[in-house]
Amino acid sequence: MPNEAASREARDARDGPRARLEAVRTRIAEAALSAGRAPESVTLIAVSKTFGADAIAPVIEAGQRDFGENRVQEAKDKWPALREGRPDIRLHLIGPLQSNKARDAVALFDVIHTIDRPKIARAIAAEMARQARAPTLFVQVNTGEEPQKAGVAPGALADLLTLCRDELGLAIAGLMCIPPISEPPQAHFAQLARLAAEHGLAALSMGMSADFEAAIRLGATHVRVGSAIFGPRG
Ligand SMILES: *Cc1c(COP(=O)(O)O)cnc(C)c1O
Repeated sequence: MPNEAASREARDARDGPRARLEAVRTRIAEAALSAGRAPESVTLIAVSKTFGADAIAPVIEAGQRDFGENRVQEAKDKWPALREGRPDIRLHLIGPLQSNKARDAVALFDVIHTIDRPKIARAIAAEMARQARAPTLFVQVNTGEEPQKAGVAPGALADLLTLCRDELGLAIAGLMCIPPISEPPQAHFAQLARLAAEHGLAALSMGMSADFEAAIRLGATHVRVGSAIFGPRG
């Protein structure tokens, strides 16, 4: 019955993301409560990279307000229209940042999770001053010290934070990490939490679809969840 199949598909496109969003919210609340934390202490960032307006609009309709993108250009193409009339939407940049994108990044994003070297910190500071905008900032830490991965090495974090705070006057809210895919993430989450505590930073951006509950148990304040809400990315 091709018609029935087609209408089932249309219904799933409409209701699927909403149902999955609800399921993720429930799991976040349960993980927080089981760790003795308030569910509201965890911000869910719905990672909408690669998805178009058709997939994102129902998630906005369902009340989701924090969204993550990993490419500045893609976000610039997609979000101005989606955001129109919704001043409470917060856009999070979770992908690696090039200094030639600092201008667009500061103009577009409310939260930048990927400050990871002096050159980027300087470029972001200059744009914040020029545009009189103040996105919330995280420093990304390469906890696995993977050569191909963005993020400051744990051993260089203290110097980068000193540069941000003392020389550039940048307030850093917290730390972000993406653990190596080949390892259990818990040790990386625990290391990020330890580094944040050492430097007096309150926010922890860690945990994705496969491991956000473990991240919450280890203190995540921001979880970045894509496929568990939007489905697989082609
Ligand atoms: C894509 C991405 C996510 C979301 O990944 P899922 O496994 O789909 O939840 C989270 N964080 C970063 C930095 C990403 O690039």
